Amino acid sequence: MNKVKDFIEKLNKNKSLSLDEYRFILDNYTGEDAEFAKNLAVDIRKSVYGNSVYIRGLIEVSNYCKNGCLYCGINRDNKSCLRYRLTKEEILSCCENGYKLGFRTFVLQGGEDNHFTDEFVCDTVRKIKKRYPDCAVTLSLGEKSYDSYKALYDAGADRYLLRHETADSEHYSKLHPSDLTLENRMECLHNLKKIGFQTGCGIMVGSPYQTNEHIAKDLKFIEEFDPQMCGIGPFLPHKDTVFADFEKGSFELTLFLLSLIRIMKPSILLPSTTALGTLKDGGREMGILAGANVIMPNLSPDTAKDKYMLYDNKLRTGLESVEGLENLKKKFADIGYEIVTDRGDYKS
Ligand code: SAM
Repeated sequence: MNKVKDFIEKLNKNKSLSLDEYRFILDNYTGEDAEFAKNLAVDIRKSVYGNSVYIRGLIEVSNYCKNGCLYCGINRDNKSCLRYRLTKEEILSCCENGYKLGFRTFVLQGGEDNHFTDEFVCDTVRKIKKRYPDCAVTLSLGEKSYDSYKALYDAGADRYLLRHETADSEHYSKLHPSDLTLENRMECLHNLKKIGFQTGCGIMVGSPYQTNEHIAKDLKFIEEFDPQMCGIGPFLPHKDTVFADFEKGSFELTLFLLSLIRIMKPSILLPSTTALGTLKDGGREMGILAGANVIMPNLSPDTAKDKYMLYDNKLRTGLESVEGLENLKKKFADIGYEIVTDRGDYKS
């Protein structure tokens, strides 16, 4: 009798497991169990989204950050990081380029940059939505007050990504300075959902001090919070952070978690991340083959791409060009998937 397989089947049936059951899976799964989960996840994803892979145009708007997250290459304490921020015109020009290529979702991501006031971001969002009313705007700009989130939503933003990073407060405090708390992160996530954003949480797999118990808690949190999106990627060290000498996260475990999350939440929008593609050649394709259904090519200007270094050797995709996108379409066609260019909303 294979108890891990039984629990995976139970997850598929009930969409819920106890903490101990998640923990048991993580402690005991084999390559064969991962293969079983992967096949199940792909069948489930196909039943909801067919062979479609959604693309989102990522625009890295600023690498200024007021936070000191210990794992992050753009944290405030990294004095070797060359800082930049895009102007409104530059952001709009990235959208213009992306729109021509077929992108219908733009993701504005950046450090927590005080220069990006609510007024600035709201105006940028309004301008994007006015020029491209058929597009969705996703924001990933960190923690803000309820009122700020509400203003951004009212300006037209559709989705918000805010990884919870870990659902264990002690672990959270090992990854962040004391001015950042899990309590506030969670409050932000609940506010985003309450306001009406399609909301995304998520974790880094293999972040320093992470244990299976932590990941089990993360899975339980994802199950209960019921986000529309979930960003799961491996932790990768950055040379100028205190975690420079920590191990990279596991590629196989990241794939396995993508499969489990797909089984738990059939409709979830699940990106196969740049970090996964950085960890292994062809990693993003393998993420899709494990149950993910979103990729986020980078539309940022080249000068920004070099400076938005969250971790060492970040993959440069070159997908802002027609050739790059055609190559990507071909790569995915080769593994039986179609890159589609609609907004790719959550299917409830
Ligand atoms: N400031 C926003 C926030 O906090 O959500 C968005 C930008 S932040 C850089 C985006 C994500 O990058 C984080 O949620 C984190 O999980 C991921 N990240 C940062 N450093 C990383 C690293 N060394 N390895 C892998 N992912 C990392």
